[in-house]
Amino acid sequence: MEYRTYKGRKTAALGFGGMRIEDPDNIARSAETVLRAFELGITYFDTAPGYCKDKSEIIMGEAIKEMKKSGNPFTISTKSSRADGGELREQLETSLKRLNVDTIDYYNCWYVLTKKDWENRKKKGAVQAILKAKEEGLIRHAVFSTHLPGPHIRDVIEEGIFEGVTLGYSVINFPFRQEGIEAAVKRDMGVVVMNPLGGGVIPQNEDQFGFLKVGENQTMVDAALHFLLSDPRITVSLVGFRNIADVESAVASVEKFKPYGEDQIAYIRKRVESEFNQLCTSCMYCNVCPEGIPVWSFMETWNHLKLKGAEAVGDRLKWHWGTDIAELDKCTRCLKCERACTQKLPIMERFEDLKKAVKG
Ligand code: SF4
Ligand code: SF4
Repeated sequence: MEYRTYKGRKTAALGFGGMRIEDPDNIARSAETVLRAFELGITYFDTAPGYCKDKSEIIMGEAIKEMKKSGNPFTISTKSSRADGGELREQLETSLKRLNVDTIDYYNCWYVLTKKDWENRKKKGAVQAILKAKEEGLIRHAVFSTHLPGPHIRDVIEEGIFEGVTLGYSVINFPFRQEGIEAAVKRDMGVVVMNPLGGGVIPQNEDQFGFLKVGENQTMVDAALHFLLSDPRITVSLVGFRNIADVESAVASVEKFKPYGEDQIAYIRKRVESEFNQLCTSCMYCNVCPEGIPVWSFMETWNHLKLKGAEAVGDRLKWHWGTDIAELDKCTRCLKCERACTQKLPIMERFEDLKKAVKG
């Protein structure tokens, strides 16, 4: 197992993402998947209220009873997306009970979607409630999880409230969140990445992402994980495990991990830049819309349309970006965004593609 340090604690670089457990109604069987991961050296376990039909925390709690008996160290991360401080506190207390712990190691101010949303978390008391729980010893580290673009992640980090960040990061969107990662590293924060397989897009599109494989007999999962593990700024890469077989295959990948050399990383970057030059990098230079349309959100969603198909669009807009296709009705076609786009992408054309995908 490859290990990193998260705020002074030794942590396995491969983490257990508790959002995809395949049979959550079977608590005992699901807990065995968690325990197998622990047995194989995984020490970071990430869960949340609502994951897996709201059973994920309960499954983790069941496994934790056994993990405690072993005396070996492990850490647990859970979350609340509540903006109201009182509601967050209630959710935190439920999580502590379900997880069978007195302290949650990493508690995420969860799913910070937009700058407005972030301001709301402060205004309605969520952030204060997290900090109070930390003072009381119910939380060890206050962290946040986000889908914000890199520059906005940096702004939140620079407020100096949090000790770690959890964000979606993979070879598809790695140019997009660089600023956030760099800001986190500057402050010696932990960086946990979720969705390292791009929501399945990477393993399912071997023809497009095959260049990630730099060694013989590498699988796509293996290659995508190696790409992330080769980045020393990333503390933990979370994989959403369904079952014991998933755990064993990811651990086997990490066991044979040898960091990619500088030349290999440079080669992968070059391939990403040249082959995905038609993809939006979410650099946000198009953040100039007089109507307030978050152009980059729609353009990044177009990447998913291209790679995953039309059915990916609605969910991506709603759950990842907190927006809706109707937002595009505000567009006056002034073309300011197209002129500002670093990649000179046909933004208007892509808006039409997205509308067509949603409306059929
Ligand atoms: S549309 Fe162009 S400017 Fe806007 S985020 Fe994408 S690549 Fe950057
Ligand atoms: S073309 Fe539309 S989306 Fe682009 S800046 Fe103008 S109003 Fe905004």
